[in-house]
Amino acid sequence: MSKRDYYEVLGVAKDASKDEIKKAYRKLSKKYHPDINKAPDAAEKFKEIQEAYEVLSDDQKRAQYDQFGHAGPNQGFGGGNGFGGFSSSDFDSFGFEDIFSTFFGGGRRNDPNAPRQGADLQYTMTLEFEEAVFGKETDIRIPREETCDTCHGTGAKPGTHPKECPHCHGTGQLNTEQSTPFGRIVNRRVCHYCGGTGKIITDKCKTCGGTGRVKKRRKIHVKIPAGIDDGQQLRVAGQGEPGINGGPAGDLYIIFHVRPHELFERDGDDIYCEIPIAFTQAALGDEIEVPTLHGKVKLKIPAGTQSGTKFRLRGKGVPNVHGHGTGDQHVITRIVTPTKLTERQKQLLREFAEVSGEVPDEQSSNFFDKMKRAFKGD
Ligand SMILES: [Zn+2]
Ligand SMILES: [Zn+2]
Repeated sequence: MSKRDYYEVLGVAKDASKDEIKKAYRKLSKKYHPDINKAPDAAEKFKEIQEAYEVLSDDQKRAQYDQFGHAGPNQGFGGGNGFGGFSSSDFDSFGFEDIFSTFFGGGRRNDPNAPRQGADLQYTMTLEFEEAVFGKETDIRIPREETCDTCHGTGAKPGTHPKECPHCHGTGQLNTEQSTPFGRIVNRRVCHYCGGTGKIITDKCKTCGGTGRVKKRRKIHVKIPAGIDDGQQLRVAGQGEPGINGGPAGDLYIIFHVRPHELFERDGDDIYCEIPIAFTQAALGDEIEVPTLHGKVKLKIPAGTQSGTKFRLRGKGVPNVHGHGTGDQHVITRIVTPTKLTERQKQLLREFAEVSGEVPDEQSSNFFDKMKRAFKGD
């Protein structure tokens, strides 16, 4: 299968800005997320999008890709940047919706006895908003193939050994010769007696039925780094399916889906939160309590604050997943117009309106000046 161009995968131009790439990635990864999209090729597309984004969002990798293409040096898939340690542990995990699939199997099939890398596995994990922000340790159970303990992977009943296939003499391939007026043509194909393995098992292992492998649910302890975001993935090296003929094991890719929060919106390492304030607080100024991911924080609202004013709470955002500091929280004010007023309140407001009618404030007088200019002819 030939690889598609990364720019084509994300549908962006070669000179797209980082922002454009990020936007395209967010849109596509939402569309093809295996939690949402049940199309048979969605997981494959999703993986392709992850891979393209991983390269194009990284200046260094992107430069390498632009120069060398897919064949470039160190052009690996997966971001195992040192995080994602695991160890076996005895706790059970609950509450994960896991979608599980096997993708891209091991290498070539030319030599049946050559060591081949095991298949990579993909696991989708849904995290609560705070779990993604602060990270967590958990155990996941993934079904995967493992080497059969009874026969140690040979597929033969203990005490017996697989025999060399007499048809292909252990090569796994059969040659068929055809005579033609121009000479002999030799065709090579996989030996159908031994299935290309070069071996025949006469006494099959009862545990695995001669395959040498058994399906097991395996518990893996995963450390989710703080700051992981929706759509990002974690590579746990060596936790895919076991290698064949002594080849290395595949890797496990955990793809994260983060649930939205009631109050907070996240953009990268920054958090956005809209806070309703009374118009009297906005006009006179006040000190209010604002929720952050790190607890409540006091915020001074200066007198004359408008609706939609942004305040920045430094360091109250999300810890960067690569350890580069912590983002900020942006508080956006929304001024609430009261809907239920007592007679006394109405009276006071009428008085207020009467007094203010004489002295329009700066903002509204600016607007009315502009309006006058715009409709000069009328
Ligand atoms: Zn076995
Ligand atoms: Zn054979």
